[in-house]
Amino acid sequence: MQEEGGMEGETTNAPGPSLGRLRGFAFDLDGTIWAGSTLLPGAIELVAALRSSDIPVVFASNSSRHGAAVLAARLTGMGISAGERDVVAAFDLVADEIVRRLGRVRVLPLATADMDELLASAGHDVLPLEDWARAQAVVVGNDPAFDFGRLRAASRAVAAGAAFFAVNMDARFPVAQDAFDPGCGALVEAVATAAEARPIVIGKPYAPLFERTLERLGCRADEAAMVGDNMASDIVGGRAAGMFTVWIDGRGDRAVDGQSPRPDLIARNLPELHRFWQNQRQIPE
Ligand SMILES: [Mg+2]
Repeated sequence: MQEEGGMEGETTNAPGPSLGRLRGFAFDLDGTIWAGSTLLPGAIELVAALRSSDIPVVFASNSSRHGAAVLAARLTGMGISAGERDVVAAFDLVADEIVRRLGRVRVLPLATADMDELLASAGHDVLPLEDWARAQAVVVGNDPAFDFGRLRAASRAVAAGAAFFAVNMDARFPVAQDAFDPGCGALVEAVATAAEARPIVIGKPYAPLFERTLERLGCRADEAAMVGDNMASDIVGGRAAGMFTVWIDGRGDRAVDGQSPRPDLIARNLPELHRFWQNQRQIPE
């Protein structure tokens, strides 16, 4: 990549005017808006600038621990005012996806206690671990109590014919700027390997989460940005949905490997994206 002459140390991949004409912005949360309990620099300012220009903002998260209500409260607590309608979380979509495919069934969840509540409120019968043999569906989220016994129950249930749902396939769950927990996808792969079965996946890069996000933004896919740090989920999925994709390259090396799709724009961080957007807004149509 070339160095730009302007601001010190800044590089650019020359965003076109389309950036300045977008009518909705979807932001990933983990690694894009926050890292663990730390809000990332520039997030408050960029969201405020978009909102004050009447451009809708939705937070589109693969969250596999909590739903929109918890995430919206966390955003508000960090200084970005948000309600449940401002957040689309893979976590919330899984219970309805099971209803859509199977109706109301007996479900064995490997997830947080919030998942038990979500499944029950959608009309499913939530099974305790020892009843795994009665499961019609298994859901794997980010399960902080994951252990050998839970892996054994879930994989036996799936091998015996229970439908297999994964909230997302993220390998890692960022807990701080330079630290991670094993992600939902790591746990899903353990169950999948033992059960010799592949899951139905709800979160990015799969379609359900993007469809819901675009409904909330209220604009066409090609008028909306998907901004995220994860190439495999945010960028691959955003492109497949037909959105303008912005990769936040946290490492700052802008290295896109040969197998990854090219994002429409690479920004090192949110302040850089903010500057790109402001510059493109000033170009008349
Ligand atoms: Mg992320």
